[in-house]
Amino acid sequence: MGKCQVCKKNESYIRFDRNPLCLDCYNEMMAKQLGVTATSYLEGVAIKDGQGKVHQFRLRKRLDPIGIIMDVEEETEGGYQFREYGELHGDQGDLLLRLLAKAENGMSEAYIEEGKFPNGQTYHLLPNDRLARRVEPSGEDRDIPVLVVNGKQYSWDEVGRMLMHYEGFQVQMEMVDL
Ligand SMILES: [Zn+2]
Repeated sequence: MGKCQVCKKNESYIRFDRNPLCLDCYNEMMAKQLGVTATSYLEGVAIKDGQGKVHQFRLRKRLDPIGIIMDVEEETEGGYQFREYGELHGDQGDLLLRLLAKAENGMSEAYIEEGKFPNGQTYHLLPNDRLARRVEPSGEDRDIPVLVVNGKQYSWDEVGRMLMHYEGFQVQMEMVDL
């Protein structure tokens, strides 16, 4: 989207009245309108997953008329991302803690185990017989979803092949915000 139209310095993050704005300038403008300021917060954080691997995240806080939105996004494409909503006049420190708890919880279980056949072909197993995570549009076609599980993208075909280990079983699908 290019540079922010207000400070002309930072990369823009959001469009407001068709003007590209960076997060800082957007929050400052919202603060004037809403009478709430974004308290300072960590810009980055490292979180260890259930398997002991460390993931680097970028944190963002956005003021919005409906409330305060905080998210963490892993600094790799298709990685983990988590979002939490708080009340406009609520405790922003508490919001951050809830977000971090959500991220830790979301990274604790390895849903997919990857292995290799002797011929080098990769296979995937579901060690706990369950699968959860984020639906995203695929890079090539926005109408075709991919599932991002444990910070990795899986195509619908790959997910289908995992399900073939369970031929004859039933599957339960539910859309949730974990
Ligand atoms: Zn700006």
